[in-house]
Amino acid sequence: MARKRRSGGRSQSGSTGSVQCSLCGRMVPGDKAIKKSRYTSVVSYKLGKELRDSGTIMPRRQEIQILCISCSIHRGVRKIRSKADRK
Ligand SMILES: [Zn+2]
Repeated sequence: MARKRRSGGRSQSGSTGSVQCSLCGRMVPGDKAIKKSRYTSVVSYKLGKELRDSGTIMPRRQEIQILCISCSIHRGVRKIRSKADRK
């Protein structure tokens, strides 16, 4: 049978639990979901800059976004690749 991807778009074999997409709420398998993390400041940018200039060490907060495939393509996190690339 023809396969679109060797791994079926998953990173692990066997069952992993399902997680919820943080944008649309769809349930996605844990190994198929796309995890995107970014660091945000606790305070606003202007205040943070002022504090950084005075030598304060600013705490950062990590935000993890879990996306389903269709949301990640819609948002441009993952691109659609050509047939040769994805095999
Ligand atoms: Zn989604």
